[in-house]
Amino acid sequence: MSYYNLLLAISKTLGDSFYVLHEENYLKNIQDLQSAFHKQYNKVIIGYSYKTNYIPKLCQIAKQNGIYAEVVSEMELELALKLGYNFDKIIFNGPLKKEKDIEKALLGNSIINLDSYSELDSVENIVKKYPSKTFKVGLRINMSLVNKDGESAIQEGLDVGRFGFDTTNAEFLNAINRLNNLGVVINALHGHTSSSDRSLKNFETITKTLCNVRNHYNLNNIKYFNIGGGYFGPMPKGLINQTTPTFEDYATTIFNQLKTDAWFTENQPYVILEPGVSVVSNALSFVSKIMDIKKIRNKNFLLIEGGVYNIKPTFHKINLPFQLISKETKTTNNNENFDVVGSTCMEKDLVLNNVSINNPSVNDFIQINNVGGYTIVKTPNFINYVPAIISINTENVYNIIRHRQTINDLIATYVLN
Ligand SMILES: *Cc1c(COP(=O)(O)O)cnc(C)c1O
Repeated sequence: MSYYNLLLAISKTLGDSFYVLHEENYLKNIQDLQSAFHKQYNKVIIGYSYKTNYIPKLCQIAKQNGIYAEVVSEMELELALKLGYNFDKIIFNGPLKKEKDIEKALLGNSIINLDSYSELDSVENIVKKYPSKTFKVGLRINMSLVNKDGESAIQEGLDVGRFGFDTTNAEFLNAINRLNNLGVVINALHGHTSSSDRSLKNFETITKTLCNVRNHYNLNNIKYFNIGGGYFGPMPKGLINQTTPTFEDYATTIFNQLKTDAWFTENQPYVILEPGVSVVSNALSFVSKIMDIKKIRNKNFLLIEGGVYNIKPTFHKINLPFQLISKETKTTNNNENFDVVGSTCMEKDLVLNNVSINNPSVNDFIQINNVGGYTIVKTPNFINYVPAIISINTENVYNIIRHRQTINDLIATYVLN
């Protein structure tokens, strides 16, 4: 069966737009990341960032391959448990952890990174509840990152990031003393910091800062140096105008730094990575039938079902890689420029901006690739149903990963009178 006919068959049962999951890409990225870091060091743990894309199928693939679940909320914690994760393979991060969840995670030996003093209060309450137990916690360390132009490299160019503990404030010593007095072991330092440039320099800073904090406060029970996520993954050609670091480059940068640290070399703690986008971007494509083609004052518009929320909810300006899948192979070259627009009622619902397409027709399909990061988890019910997700095996047979939302799903949590 041709790819066009397969998409047509899928669209007849699952709707005019849907996602295609490429599980093999996800697995390959994880294995590539793993082997790049294992070349440097064998005590590396990978935790998959649920918030980036928690399609259960992906989380299960992660689980089957020894990958931990990196969760940042009550909802994500419950999802990991639902998917069969044990607490001891869960890394529990995030700015708002409920005391009941911290309690369960501590009792179950999760790797838990505290973000603030209010979470210390929760830990104190839990210690009092279980006076005979010894608990272990990690601390997220607030980072300051500077790009090559001397500006803040933190996401959105923010000067001061809001996560973790401020180690430049004397109060930090009180936090450590407080945990010591409670008999709580500090077993992890966490440095995840979202940057806008994903540069090697940031990882040098993060690694160096974790080592400095460890050394300065003599934290001798550290078992995990957690570098966090924020890496580039494999990039489709021409997507952005620069070469991006490879997994090997990140591994070299991080370990060059770690290997200069005497305590690290002597004690050999685990190194934790928390990849999200870098392993999942190319694991998902969005497919929609072309529903209409129109020309307004000499500008060509191509209408699809769904829209920008399905492919880039951040509305960034980069055109993602795409293909036109037509019923017949095009023999003539008749390229014209189109704006591919979505089926919402927003003017700015621009899926592809001024791209050249060869002779598209209504009922052809457009496939937009590299949409795995922060799409599924951010698709609102704005105007449209949430689309299905399918995967296609090597025999060209498709499996349903998620059904298309129905009207009953949509109203299920509302109270109707
Ligand atoms: C978001 C997040 C990640 C993953 O970040 P990516 O940029 O998607 O790699 C990892 N760790 C934490 C704590 C996060 O919040």
